[in-house]
Amino acid sequence: MQAILALNAGSSSVKFAVYEARPSAPVLLLRGALDLHADNNRFVIKDAGGQPIRDDKAGDPESDLATTLLERIEPLLEGRKLEAVGHRIVHGGPDFAASILIDAQIIAQLDRLTPLAPLHQPACLEPARRLLSLRPQLRQVACFDTAFHRDLAPIYRRFALPLEFEAKGVRRYGFHGLSFEYVVWHCNQSGLRPDLRMVIAHLGNGCSLCAVHNGKSVNTTMSLTPLDGVMMGTRSGAVDPGALLYLQQSEGMSASEVEDMLYHKSGLLGLSGLSADMRTLLASADRRARSAVDQFCARIAEQICVMATAMNGMDVLVFTGGIGENSADIRRDVCARLAWLGVSSDDQTGHARSTPASRVDVRTIPTDEEYIIAAHTLDLTRGPREA
Ligand code: ADP
Repeated sequence: MQAILALNAGSSSVKFAVYEARPSAPVLLLRGALDLHADNNRFVIKDAGGQPIRDDKAGDPESDLATTLLERIEPLLEGRKLEAVGHRIVHGGPDFAASILIDAQIIAQLDRLTPLAPLHQPACLEPARRLLSLRPQLRQVACFDTAFHRDLAPIYRRFALPLEFEAKGVRRYGFHGLSFEYVVWHCNQSGLRPDLRMVIAHLGNGCSLCAVHNGKSVNTTMSLTPLDGVMMGTRSGAVDPGALLYLQQSEGMSASEVEDMLYHKSGLLGLSGLSADMRTLLASADRRARSAVDQFCARIAEQICVMATAMNGMDVLVFTGGIGENSADIRRDVCARLAWLGVSSDDQTGHARSTPASRVDVRTIPTDEEYIIAAHTLDLTRGPREA
Protein backbone atom coordinates (compact mmCIF):
# COMPACT_ATOMS: atom_id res chain seq x y z
CA MET A 1 0.00 0.00 0.00
CA GLN A 2 1.12 3.51 -0.70
CA ALA A 3 0.58 6.78 1.07
CA ILE A 4 -0.58 10.22 -0.03
CA LEU A 5 0.23 13.48 1.74
CA ALA A 6 -2.37 16.25 1.53
CA LEU A 7 -0.83 19.62 2.28
CA ASN A 8 -2.80 22.73 3.17
CA ALA A 9 -0.10 25.38 3.57
CA GLY A 10 -1.19 28.84 4.69
CA SER A 11 0.82 31.93 5.50
CA SER A 12 1.07 31.30 9.24
CA SER A 13 0.00 27.72 9.70
CA VAL A 14 0.12 24.45 7.82
CA LYS A 15 -2.38 21.64 8.08
CA PHE A 16 -1.67 18.24 6.61
CA ALA A 17 -3.04 14.72 6.53
CA VAL A 18 -1.62 11.41 5.36
CA TYR A 19 -3.83 8.80 3.74
CA GLU A 20 -3.46 5.25 2.62
CA ALA A 21 -4.03 5.17 -1.13
CA ARG A 22 -6.78 2.55 -1.28
CA PRO A 23 -8.15 1.95 -4.81
CA SER A 24 -11.64 3.16 -3.89
CA ALA A 25 -10.87 6.17 -1.67
CA PRO A 26 -8.17 7.63 0.55
CA VAL A 27 -8.19 6.31 4.13
CA LEU A 28 -6.87 8.59 6.88
CA LEU A 29 -3.67 7.51 8.67
CA LEU A 30 -2.34 10.69 10.29
CA ARG A 31 -3.33 14.31 10.67
CA GLY A 32 -1.17 17.19 11.75
CA ALA A 33 -0.56 20.90 11.97
CA LEU A 34 2.41 23.17 12.09
CA ASP A 35 2.09 26.59 13.64
CA LEU A 36 4.66 28.92 12.16
CA HIS A 37 4.08 31.81 14.59
CA ALA A 38 7.37 32.60 16.33
CA ASP A 39 5.72 32.50 19.76
CA ASN A 40 3.86 29.25 19.17
CA ASN A 41 6.19 27.24 17.02
CA ARG A 42 4.52 23.81 17.36
CA PHE A 43 4.44 20.69 15.23
CA VAL A 44 1.62 18.32 16.12
CA ILE A 45 0.80 14.90 14.63
CA LYS A 46 -2.21 12.78 15.61
CA ASP A 47 -3.33 9.35 14.53
CA ALA A 48 -6.59 8.74 12.66
CA GLY A 49 -8.47 8.52 15.95
CA GLY A 50 -7.19 11.95 17.07
CA GLN A 51 -4.69 10.58 19.62
CA PRO A 52 -1.46 12.62 19.72
CA ILE A 53 1.63 10.89 18.32
CA ARG A 54 3.95 13.84 18.77
CA ASP A 55 3.68 17.45 19.86
CA ASP A 56 6.91 19.38 19.92
CA LYS A 57 8.76 22.34 18.55
CA ALA A 58 8.50 22.86 14.80
CA GLY A 59 12.26 22.32 14.63
CA ASP A 60 15.17 24.01 12.98
CA PRO A 61 13.92 27.39 11.72
CA GLU A 62 16.49 27.13 8.91
CA SER A 63 14.93 23.92 7.63
CA ASP A 64 12.27 24.34 4.95
CA LEU A 65 8.73 23.06 5.35
CA ALA A 66 9.00 20.24 2.79
CA THR A 67 12.14 18.79 4.42
CA THR A 68 10.63 19.06 7.91
CA LEU A 69 7.45 17.29 6.80
CA LEU A 70 9.28 14.44 5.06
CA GLU A 71 11.61 13.93 8.03
CA ARG A 72 8.75 13.68 10.48
CA ILE A 73 6.11 11.90 8.45
CA GLU A 74 8.00 9.18 6.58
CA PRO A 75 9.19 7.31 9.71
CA LEU A 76 5.51 6.99 10.71
CA LEU A 77 4.38 5.33 7.48
CA GLU A 78 5.11 1.76 8.67
CA GLY A 79 6.55 0.49 5.41
CA ARG A 80 4.22 2.42 3.10
CA LYS A 81 5.92 4.46 0.42
CA LEU A 82 4.98 8.12 -0.03
CA GLU A 83 3.59 8.00 -3.55
CA ALA A 84 2.15 11.46 -4.11
CA VAL A 85 1.59 14.86 -2.53
CA GLY A 86 -1.50 16.97 -3.11
CA HIS A 87 -1.37 20.70 -2.45
CA ARG A 88 -4.09 23.21 -1.74
CA ILE A 89 -3.31 25.99 -4.21
CA VAL A 90 -5.28 29.10 -3.46
CA HIS A 91 -5.45 30.71 -6.91
CA GLY A 92 -5.84 28.89 -10.21
CA GLY A 93 -6.55 32.05 -12.23
CA PRO A 94 -8.26 31.77 -15.62
CA ASP A 95 -6.25 28.74 -16.80
CA PHE A 96 -6.85 26.10 -14.11
CA ALA A 97 -10.42 24.94 -13.58
CA ALA A 98 -9.52 21.45 -12.27
CA SER A 99 -6.77 19.73 -10.30
CA ILE A 100 -3.60 19.04 -12.29
CA LEU A 101 -0.23 17.27 -12.01
CA ILE A 102 2.50 19.74 -11.08
CA ASP A 103 5.75 20.33 -12.97
CA ALA A 104 8.16 23.27 -13.02
CA GLN A 105 6.23 25.03 -15.76
CA ILE A 106 2.93 24.79 -13.86
CA ILE A 107 4.61 26.22 -10.76
CA ALA A 108 5.98 29.15 -12.81
CA GLN A 109 2.49 29.78 -14.24
CA LEU A 110 0.91 29.70 -10.77
CA ASP A 111 3.61 31.96 -9.39
CA ARG A 112 2.47 34.67 -11.79
CA LEU A 113 -0.86 34.76 -9.91
CA THR A 114 0.86 35.82 -6.65
CA PRO A 115 -0.32 39.46 -6.89
CA LEU A 116 -3.90 38.12 -6.77
CA ALA A 117 -3.32 36.26 -3.48
CA PRO A 118 -0.15 37.75 -2.00
CA LEU A 119 -0.61 36.18 1.46
CA HIS A 120 -1.42 32.69 0.23
CA GLN A 121 0.03 31.87 -3.18
CA PRO A 122 3.75 31.97 -2.22
CA ALA A 123 3.09 29.95 0.95
CA CYS A 124 1.34 27.13 -0.89
CA LEU A 125 3.71 27.06 -3.89
CA GLU A 126 6.93 27.00 -1.87
CA PRO A 127 6.67 23.38 -0.61
CA ALA A 128 5.67 22.17 -4.12
CA ARG A 129 8.72 23.85 -5.62
CA ARG A 130 10.99 22.46 -2.94
CA LEU A 131 9.62 18.91 -3.26
CA LEU A 132 10.16 19.05 -7.00
CA SER A 133 13.87 19.54 -6.44
CA LEU A 134 14.16 17.22 -3.40
CA ARG A 135 12.11 14.36 -4.88
CA PRO A 136 11.69 14.79 -8.63
CA GLN A 137 10.05 11.33 -8.87
CA LEU A 138 7.32 12.15 -6.35
CA ARG A 139 4.07 12.94 -8.13
CA GLN A 140 2.48 16.21 -7.03
CA VAL A 141 -1.00 17.53 -7.66
CA ALA A 142 -2.32 21.09 -7.43
CA CYS A 143 -5.90 21.36 -6.11
CA PHE A 144 -7.36 24.81 -6.56
CA ASP A 145 -9.59 26.77 -4.22
CA THR A 146 -10.95 28.62 -7.25
CA ALA A 147 -11.88 25.51 -9.29
CA PHE A 148 -15.19 24.77 -7.54
CA HIS A 149 -16.53 28.09 -8.86
CA ARG A 150 -15.65 27.33 -12.50
CA ASP A 151 -19.28 27.39 -13.61
CA LEU A 152 -20.28 30.81 -12.27
CA ALA A 153 -22.68 32.41 -14.74
CA PRO A 154 -21.49 35.59 -16.47
CA ILE A 155 -23.66 37.80 -14.24
CA TYR A 156 -21.86 36.48 -11.16
CA ARG A 157 -18.46 36.09 -12.84
CA ARG A 158 -18.09 39.62 -14.18
CA PHE A 159 -17.29 42.86 -12.45
CA ALA A 160 -19.23 45.79 -13.88
CA LEU A 161 -16.06 47.05 -15.53
CA PRO A 162 -15.46 47.57 -19.25
CA LEU A 163 -15.69 44.11 -20.84
CA GLU A 164 -12.08 43.98 -22.02
CA PHE A 165 -10.95 43.54 -18.40
CA GLU A 166 -12.66 40.16 -18.15
CA ALA A 167 -10.53 38.93 -21.05
CA LYS A 168 -7.47 40.02 -19.06
CA GLY A 169 -8.56 37.75 -16.22
CA VAL A 170 -9.94 40.56 -14.05
CA ARG A 171 -13.11 38.78 -12.97
CA ARG A 172 -14.69 37.04 -10.02
CA TYR A 173 -13.16 33.62 -9.26
CA GLY A 174 -14.13 32.75 -5.66
CA PHE A 175 -12.14 30.77 -3.07
CA HIS A 176 -12.54 28.13 -0.31
CA GLY A 177 -13.62 25.75 -3.08
CA LEU A 178 -12.03 22.69 -1.47
CA SER A 179 -13.99 23.34 1.71
CA PHE A 180 -17.27 23.88 -0.18
CA GLU A 181 -16.63 20.73 -2.23
CA TYR A 182 -16.13 18.72 0.97
CA VAL A 183 -19.37 20.00 2.50
CA VAL A 184 -21.30 19.14 -0.66
CA TRP A 185 -19.69 15.67 -0.79
CA HIS A 186 -20.53 15.13 2.89
CA CYS A 187 -24.14 16.16 2.34
CA ASN A 188 -24.41 13.80 -0.65
CA GLN A 189 -22.99 10.96 1.45
CA SER A 190 -25.61 11.62 4.10
CA GLY A 191 -28.39 11.42 1.52
CA LEU A 192 -29.23 15.11 1.15
CA ARG A 193 -30.92 15.77 -2.19
CA PRO A 194 -28.50 17.68 -4.48
CA ASP A 195 -31.32 19.80 -5.93
CA LEU A 196 -31.84 21.50 -2.56
CA ARG A 197 -30.63 25.11 -2.51
CA MET A 198 -27.69 25.26 -0.13
CA VAL A 199 -25.82 28.23 1.33
CA ILE A 200 -22.48 27.32 2.92
CA ALA A 201 -20.83 29.79 5.31
CA HIS A 202 -17.11 28.97 5.67
CA LEU A 203 -16.10 31.04 8.70
CA GLY A 204 -12.45 30.62 9.72
CA ASN A 205 -9.56 33.09 9.67
CA GLY A 206 -10.66 33.60 6.10
CA CYS A 207 -14.41 33.74 5.55
CA SER A 208 -16.53 33.30 2.47
CA LEU A 209 -20.00 32.10 1.55
CA CYS A 210 -21.20 30.06 -1.39
CA ALA A 211 -24.56 29.33 -3.00
CA VAL A 212 -24.61 25.71 -4.21
CA HIS A 213 -27.27 24.11 -6.37
CA ASN A 214 -27.00 20.63 -7.91
CA GLY A 215 -23.42 20.40 -6.65
CA LYS A 216 -22.27 23.56 -8.42
CA SER A 217 -21.28 26.99 -7.15
CA VAL A 218 -23.87 29.51 -8.28
CA ASN A 219 -22.49 32.58 -6.50
CA THR A 220 -19.85 33.29 -3.87
CA THR A 221 -18.69 36.25 -1.81
CA MET A 222 -14.94 36.30 -2.54
CA SER A 223 -13.96 37.30 -6.05
CA LEU A 224 -10.67 38.18 -7.81
CA THR A 225 -8.69 38.05 -4.57
CA PRO A 226 -9.42 36.52 -1.15
CA LEU A 227 -10.23 40.02 0.14
CA ASP A 228 -13.75 40.46 -1.17
CA GLY A 229 -17.02 39.67 0.59
CA VAL A 230 -17.54 39.45 4.34
CA MET A 231 -15.04 40.75 6.90
CA MET A 232 -12.54 38.24 8.31
CA GLY A 233 -9.91 37.91 11.04
CA THR A 234 -7.51 40.49 9.63
CA ARG A 235 -8.93 41.03 6.12
CA SER A 236 -11.41 43.76 5.36
CA GLY A 237 -13.91 42.07 3.09
CA ALA A 238 -15.64 44.37 0.59
CA VAL A 239 -15.05 48.09 0.93
CA ASP A 240 -16.02 50.88 -1.40
CA PRO A 241 -13.37 50.82 -4.17
CA GLY A 242 -13.55 54.62 -4.00
CA ALA A 243 -12.25 54.49 -0.42
CA LEU A 244 -9.08 52.80 -1.67
CA LEU A 245 -8.59 55.45 -4.34
CA TYR A 246 -9.16 58.16 -1.76
CA LEU A 247 -6.59 56.69 0.65
CA GLN A 248 -3.97 56.64 -2.09
CA GLN A 249 -4.80 59.93 -3.79
CA SER A 250 -5.67 62.11 -0.80
CA GLU A 251 -4.16 60.42 2.25
CA GLY A 252 -0.83 59.62 0.62
CA MET A 253 -0.88 55.89 1.31
CA SER A 254 1.17 53.77 -1.08
CA ALA A 255 -0.33 50.73 -2.82
CA SER A 256 1.66 48.41 -0.55
CA GLU A 257 0.50 50.27 2.57
CA VAL A 258 -3.10 49.85 1.43
CA GLU A 259 -2.43 46.17 0.71
CA ASP A 260 -0.93 45.64 4.16
CA MET A 261 -3.91 47.36 5.78
CA LEU A 262 -6.49 45.34 3.83
CA TYR A 263 -4.85 41.94 4.40
CA HIS A 264 -3.27 42.25 7.84
CA LYS A 265 -4.80 45.10 9.85
CA SER A 266 -8.51 45.11 9.07
CA GLY A 267 -11.48 42.85 9.82
CA LEU A 268 -12.03 41.72 13.41
CA LEU A 269 -8.54 42.91 14.38
CA GLY A 270 -8.93 46.36 12.86
CA LEU A 271 -12.37 46.97 14.33
CA SER A 272 -11.69 45.59 17.81
CA GLY A 273 -8.14 46.88 18.16
CA LEU A 274 -7.71 43.74 20.25
CA SER A 275 -7.47 40.48 18.31
CA ALA A 276 -8.26 38.67 15.08
CA ASP A 277 -9.17 35.57 17.07
CA MET A 278 -12.90 35.06 17.54
CA ARG A 279 -12.41 33.19 20.84
CA THR A 280 -10.60 36.19 22.34
CA LEU A 281 -13.29 38.60 21.15
CA LEU A 282 -16.17 36.48 22.43
CA ALA A 283 -14.49 36.23 25.84
CA SER A 284 -13.91 39.99 26.04
CA ALA A 285 -16.20 42.52 27.68
CA ASP A 286 -14.58 45.32 25.66
CA ARG A 287 -17.12 47.47 23.82
CA ARG A 288 -15.16 47.52 20.57
CA ALA A 289 -14.75 43.72 20.64
CA ARG A 290 -18.55 43.32 21.00
CA SER A 291 -19.19 45.76 18.23
CA ALA A 292 -16.72 43.97 15.91
CA VAL A 293 -18.49 40.64 16.52
CA ASP A 294 -21.85 42.30 15.94
CA GLN A 295 -20.70 43.70 12.61
CA PHE A 296 -19.22 40.31 11.63
CA CYS A 297 -22.57 38.56 12.23
CA ALA A 298 -24.62 41.28 10.54
CA ARG A 299 -22.57 41.15 7.35
CA ILE A 300 -22.67 37.35 7.23
CA ALA A 301 -26.46 37.34 7.61
CA GLU A 302 -26.66 39.97 4.87
CA GLN A 303 -24.50 37.93 2.49
CA ILE A 304 -26.47 34.74 3.21
CA CYS A 305 -29.42 36.60 1.72
CA VAL A 306 -27.31 37.60 -1.28
CA MET A 307 -26.35 33.94 -1.83
CA ALA A 308 -29.97 32.78 -1.44
CA THR A 309 -31.11 35.35 -4.00
CA ALA A 310 -28.95 33.68 -6.68
CA MET A 311 -31.01 30.48 -6.17
CA ASN A 312 -34.43 32.06 -5.58
CA GLY A 313 -34.35 30.76 -2.02
CA MET A 314 -32.49 28.62 0.49
CA ASP A 315 -33.37 25.13 1.74
CA VAL A 316 -30.17 24.34 3.66
CA LEU A 317 -27.75 26.59 5.58
CA VAL A 318 -24.40 25.04 6.56
CA PHE A 319 -21.86 26.52 8.97
CA THR A 320 -18.26 25.36 8.67
CA GLY A 321 -14.66 26.57 9.34
CA GLY A 322 -13.14 27.18 12.79
CA ILE A 323 -15.77 29.77 13.81
CA GLY A 324 -18.70 28.14 12.00
CA GLU A 325 -17.98 24.72 13.47
CA ASN A 326 -17.19 25.76 17.02
CA SER A 327 -19.09 28.88 17.94
CA ALA A 328 -22.73 28.38 18.87
CA ASP A 329 -22.82 32.11 19.80
CA ILE A 330 -22.01 33.19 16.26
CA ARG A 331 -24.38 30.68 14.66
CA ARG A 332 -27.22 31.74 16.98
CA ASP A 333 -26.60 35.42 16.27
CA VAL A 334 -26.53 34.92 12.49
CA CYS A 335 -29.65 32.71 12.52
CA ALA A 336 -31.53 35.19 14.72
CA ARG A 337 -30.97 37.87 12.06
CA LEU A 338 -32.56 35.53 9.50
CA ALA A 339 -35.66 34.66 11.52
CA TRP A 340 -37.76 36.71 9.09
CA LEU A 341 -36.73 34.22 6.38
CA GLY A 342 -37.99 31.31 8.46
CA VAL A 343 -34.59 30.30 9.83
CA SER A 344 -34.98 28.90 13.29
CA SER A 345 -32.13 27.02 14.89
CA ASP A 346 -31.76 25.20 18.16
CA ASP A 347 -28.09 25.43 19.04
CA GLN A 348 -28.20 24.07 22.57
CA THR A 349 -26.30 20.93 21.60
CA GLY A 350 -23.24 22.71 20.24
CA HIS A 351 -24.30 21.89 16.69
CA ALA A 352 -26.61 24.06 14.68
CA ARG A 353 -29.86 22.19 14.23
CA SER A 354 -33.04 23.60 12.81
CA THR A 355 -36.16 23.47 14.91
CA PRO A 356 -39.13 21.53 13.48
CA ALA A 357 -40.74 24.87 12.55
CA SER A 358 -37.73 26.11 10.59
CA ARG A 359 -38.18 26.58 6.86
CA VAL A 360 -34.43 26.13 6.41
CA ASP A 361 -32.42 23.04 7.40
CA VAL A 362 -29.53 24.50 9.48
CA ARG A 363 -26.45 22.30 9.89
CA THR A 364 -22.91 22.38 11.24
CA ILE A 365 -20.48 20.33 9.16
CA PRO A 366 -16.77 20.25 10.09
CA THR A 367 -14.85 20.84 6.87
CA ASP A 368 -12.05 18.60 5.64
CA GLU A 369 -10.13 20.21 2.80
CA GLU A 370 -7.35 17.63 3.17
CA TYR A 371 -9.75 14.79 2.28
CA ILE A 372 -10.73 16.51 -0.96
CA ILE A 373 -7.05 17.18 -1.78
CA ALA A 374 -6.26 13.49 -1.16
CA ALA A 375 -9.22 12.31 -3.26
CA HIS A 376 -8.20 14.51 -6.22
CA THR A 377 -4.57 13.42 -5.83
CA LEU A 378 -5.58 9.77 -5.82
CA ASP A 379 -7.69 10.31 -8.96
CA LEU A 380 -4.86 11.96 -10.85
CA THR A 381 -2.06 9.61 -9.79
CA ARG A 382 -3.89 6.28 -9.81
CA GLY A 383 -2.86 5.36 -13.36
CA PRO A 384 0.59 4.19 -14.41
CA ARG A 385 3.30 6.82 -14.33
CA GLU A 386 3.93 8.36 -17.74
CA ALA A 387 7.27 7.46 -19.31
P1 ADP B 1 -8.12 28.92 8.94
O1 ADP B 1 -9.02 29.77 8.10
O2 ADP B 1 -6.76 29.51 9.15
O3 ADP B 1 -8.12 27.45 8.54
P2 ADP B 1 -9.81 28.08 11.14
O4 ADP B 1 -10.83 27.52 10.21
O5 ADP B 1 -9.08 27.14 12.02
O6 ADP B 1 -8.75 28.98 10.39
O7 ADP B 1 -10.56 29.18 12.04
C1 ADP B 1 -9.90 29.97 12.97
C2 ADP B 1 -10.92 30.80 13.70
O8 ADP B 1 -11.82 29.92 14.38
C3 ADP B 1 -10.32 31.73 14.75
O9 ADP B 1 -10.94 33.00 14.68
C4 ADP B 1 -10.71 31.05 16.04
O10 ADP B 1 -10.87 31.97 17.10
C5 ADP B 1 -12.05 30.46 15.66
N1 ADP B 1 -12.46 29.44 16.64
C6 ADP B 1 -11.93 28.24 16.88
N2 ADP B 1 -12.58 27.62 17.91
C7 ADP B 1 -13.54 28.49 18.32
C8 ADP B 1 -14.54 28.46 19.34
N3 ADP B 1 -14.68 27.42 20.16
N4 ADP B 1 -15.35 29.54 19.46
C9 ADP B 1 -15.22 30.60 18.65
N5 ADP B 1 -14.30 30.69 17.67
C10 ADP B 1 -13.47 29.65 17.51
